Amino acid sequence: MSLFITSLASGSNGNCYYIGNNTEAILVDAGITCKEIETRIKRLSLSIEKIKAIFISHEHADHIRGVPVLAKKYNLPVYITTQTLKNGRLHIDKKLARSFNAFDPISIGDLDITAFPKYHDAADPYSFTIRFKDLKVGVFTDIGQPCQHLINHFSQCHAAFLESNYDDDMLDAGSYPYFLKTRIRGGKGHLSNKQALELFTSHRPDFMSHLFLSHISKNNNCPNLVEQLFNQHAGNTKIIIASRFQETAVYKLSNPAVNISTQLPVTMAIFPVSASQLSFSFDDEMKSA
Ligand SMILES: [Zn+2]
Ligand SMILES: [Zn+2]
Repeated sequence: MSLFITSLASGSNGNCYYIGNNTEAILVDAGITCKEIETRIKRLSLSIEKIKAIFISHEHADHIRGVPVLAKKYNLPVYITTQTLKNGRLHIDKKLARSFNAFDPISIGDLDITAFPKYHDAADPYSFTIRFKDLKVGVFTDIGQPCQHLINHFSQCHAAFLESNYDDDMLDAGSYPYFLKTRIRGGKGHLSNKQALELFTSHRPDFMSHLFLSHISKNNNCPNLVEQLFNQHAGNTKIIIASRFQETAVYKLSNPAVNISTQLPVTMAIFPVSASQLSFSFDDEMKSA
C-alpha cells in the first residue's frame, strides 16, 4: 500500500500539491491554471482521472487561481469553508462546493483528510493532513508561526510539505517596504527558514522519509541555501525543494515498516523552464510572499 506525492507548484506564483494512492488522489490548493495542472500531471505520468477532490487552504490567489476551471471541467468537489469561498470571490457551482470543519476527517475513498487552523492573514486559513492506512502526509504552508497543532501533526507525518519562506538576513537587506517585511514576519505571514528548521530538528519523527521545502520566496530566499541548511540536519529524511517554476518528481511512500532507503522517486523530472513559467509579478508577491 503506497502513497504517491508531488508538488505541482509551490510559491507565491502558485501552489498545488498532489497526494494519492493507486485508485484516488486529492489536490491541496490549485493556484496554477487548470491547463498547467493538466500539463504537469501528464508529464509526471499521473492520471488526472484519479483526482477526486480539491481542498482549499485559504483564499489568496496563489492557492485558488485554477480552482473554478478545474472543478468545472472535471466535476470535482471543492472542500472550502464559507468564509474562504466568500473572500476568494470564487465562482463554483453550488453542487461542487462543500464545507469542512476543523478536526473532522473527510473520506475520499481510502484517503482521510483532516483540516486544522493555522496563523495566516487570511479569512479562515487551514493546514491539512492526509492519512492512508498507516501513512500520514501534511501540507503546511502559509504559516505565520508554528502552533501546537502544527507541532503535533508534523511529529506524526511520514512526509510533509513545509513552508520555508524567507531567510531573515535576505528579508532584512531586501527591497521590500517596511510594512511588507513586517507582514511577512509578523506572526500571521510566513515561516522563515529558521522557524522551519527549528520545527524539523525538534519535532521530526524518526519515520519521516520525505520533507518538501515549500513556498520559498523568490526575493527573500534561495533554494540552494534552503537545501544546504536542511541537508545538514536531514538524517534519514530526503530533502526535496518544491520549486516555484516546475513540478517535483513523484515520490512514493510505502508502508512505514518498509526500509526508507528503498523509497526512490518514481520519476525524475528534469524539464526546461519555459518563459511563461518564469513570469512573475510583484503584485503576486505582495499578496502572498
Ligand atoms: Zn501562498
Ligand atoms: Zn497566503
